[in-house]
Amino acid sequence: MQFYLDGYKSGNPFVEATHPSARQRPGQLPDVVDVLIIGSGPAGLVLAAQLANFPDLHTVVVDRRDGPLEVGQADGVACRTVEMFEAFGLADQLIHEGYQVNEVTFWRPDPQDGSSITRTGRIDDVEDGLSEMPHMIVNQARMLDYLRDHMRRSARRAEPYHGFHASGVEVTADGEHPVTVTLEHTAGGEPTGETSTIRAKYVVGCDGSRSSTREAIGRRLVGDATNQSWGVLDVLAVTDFPDIRLKSAVHSEQGSILIIPREGGYLVRLYIELDNERDAEMLRDRSATPERLTEVANRILHPYTLEVKHVGWWAVYEIGQRYCEGFDDVPDAEAGTRLPRVFIAGDACHTHSAKAGQGMNVSMADAFNLGWKLGTVLRGTSRPELLGTYSQERQNVARRLIEFDREFAAKFSSSPADGDDADVAEFQSYFRAQGRFTAGVAVRYEPSILTAPPTHQHLAEGFGLGMRFHSAPVVRLADAKPMHLGHAARADGAWRLYAFADPAHPGAGPGSLLGRLCEFLASDKSPLARFTPPGAEPDSVIDVRAVLQQPHRDVAVDELPPVLLPRKGPFGLVDYEKVFCSDHAAGDIFDTRGVDRERGAMIVVRPDQYVATVLPLDAYDELDAFLGEVLVEVG
Ligand SMILES: Cc1cc2nc3c(=O)[nH]c(=O)nc-3n(C[C@H](O)[C@H](O)[C@H](O)COP(=O)(O)OP(=O)(O)OC[C@H]3O[C@@H](n4cnc5c(N)ncnc54)[C@H](O)[C@@H]3O)c2cc1C
Repeated sequence: MQFYLDGYKSGNPFVEATHPSARQRPGQLPDVVDVLIIGSGPAGLVLAAQLANFPDLHTVVVDRRDGPLEVGQADGVACRTVEMFEAFGLADQLIHEGYQVNEVTFWRPDPQDGSSITRTGRIDDVEDGLSEMPHMIVNQARMLDYLRDHMRRSARRAEPYHGFHASGVEVTADGEHPVTVTLEHTAGGEPTGETSTIRAKYVVGCDGSRSSTREAIGRRLVGDATNQSWGVLDVLAVTDFPDIRLKSAVHSEQGSILIIPREGGYLVRLYIELDNERDAEMLRDRSATPERLTEVANRILHPYTLEVKHVGWWAVYEIGQRYCEGFDDVPDAEAGTRLPRVFIAGDACHTHSAKAGQGMNVSMADAFNLGWKLGTVLRGTSRPELLGTYSQERQNVARRLIEFDREFAAKFSSSPADGDDADVAEFQSYFRAQGRFTAGVAVRYEPSILTAPPTHQHLAEGFGLGMRFHSAPVVRLADAKPMHLGHAARADGAWRLYAFADPAHPGAGPGSLLGRLCEFLASDKSPLARFTPPGAEPDSVIDVRAVLQQPHRDVAVDELPPVLLPRKGPFGLVDYEKVFCSDHAAGDIFDTRGVDRERGAMIVVRPDQYVATVLPLDAYDELDAFLGEVLVEVG
């Protein structure tokens, strides 16, 4: 993390200097904003945290709740989400506080005595090398706390407005702020009778599965309305079940439980699958209580027992497998002819079972996809056509998520009585194979203006086009710091151009492909010159970074081309953190990610960390043409 660019200041360097237009009167709603976000759940707050990094934009988040969520709901944080949190500088705290899921155990009825359960397997939860980040468990309320902290520390000093229920969303005119949202003021969940309106350039409905924004734009969820009911219990308990501190999938003749150990060493979450026949009365009368759910848990865990000492949160969670056919207000018939003004994200677009722990993660990923697009379009550095890619990209992800969830949920619930050893082995290998999906790293965006076709993929096989940039260890040249290459990227809306060098010394001038690329990038014809607005930092639109093959002690900083030592801030300070070398101790990144050593490669990465194109180091025209489709040329 870099700071003090504008001058040394005492105090916490992670708190940014206040932007002049930061909110002056807390609680006082503005009349006009750039972006209005409806809902401060995981989707709404990731979007708000991203837009807080654009302090020149005015973003407001409203929520009908009286205050922040305090407890409950989701708790699984996929590896990909931790990677995303790293870009906000929030991963350390999350990893420090959360439970790290390392292994999973599987339990089935004992073949000798079907009334008892026995362990049938124990495997790694996450495949080696899938991500540098762990699979974590942390309560959703804490995830939201981290994001709010980030917003408060940002130059915009952003904070959600609570007690406002969005009751109407209307795209009214073609003016600068064409969307009008009606807000009913609430107290204790009840309307006070007072209403306000806000006009916005863009509105994003992150208002959950019963989204009124979705209704307002004429979208609907399609799929199965109801599926399976789960009792969810967060408890402190005393038990003789030996795997209580491991994620455990238990199937007995009496039903299924998913055990999720939680943060803090003692707390545990039980997802108890409620049976439409066995638990019919409880479901019909809605008479579930923590005590009754505990009875079901004990029935399933027999011969083990579980004595609940304290219930932190509980719910009966019933959810269908549904998704929306479009995530913005442009009807299919008008796609490509007009630009969206209203978007929906998160549970407003897709709902599914909690079994694979995807709800909070996919919701946050929707928002991360949209945030930089809105921010850079509003700033005027990206073309507005970019906004149409949000629905295309994320709707495909939602469709695949629902297909996956149907299959996963069916496997999970299949009766153990039908299962022999082969079934048990098959379920475990299926679970392992789906690990990429549940870790959130299987998403691959289709070719579009944001994802090039795989013409040059062979130059860097390990950086899959349309997939998230898969980080690997490197050593930063200037200060010899071993680190992850991907962690240099912040959620700041900038594109990243990683130039993986050819073998020549970078100071060899025309003898080095990297040297020649740097000369081009420093020229008037370069995309840096064409797309960076006057007065903006040189890396604020396209951030050029180089990865060298030489060991870090073999290259001196003063041998680097100037474009890799950009001058920034009011004092024209040199940014020394743009160049990295292979970390031969941790694994050479050229080998681990299959980068062509002779020819090198340019990897162009979107602000949300997805690989947009892979190019030869001398493909200047192709680079320019690709970025020209997305970025706005300065006047
Ligand atoms: C009761 C419950 C229990 C859950 N349990 C689990 C679980 O055990 N495991 C799991 O993996 N997932 C669980 N989930 C799902 C998971 O929490 C969601 O997938 C995730 O929260 C989705 O995030 P989101 O931001 O899209 O929506 P939400 O988290 O639902 O946030 C929507 C926000 O919008 C606000 N809002 C809604 N309408 C309006 C309006 N008109 N005006 C203003 N504000 C509005 C709401 O107050 C809320 O704060 C649960 C969800 C719920 C509702």
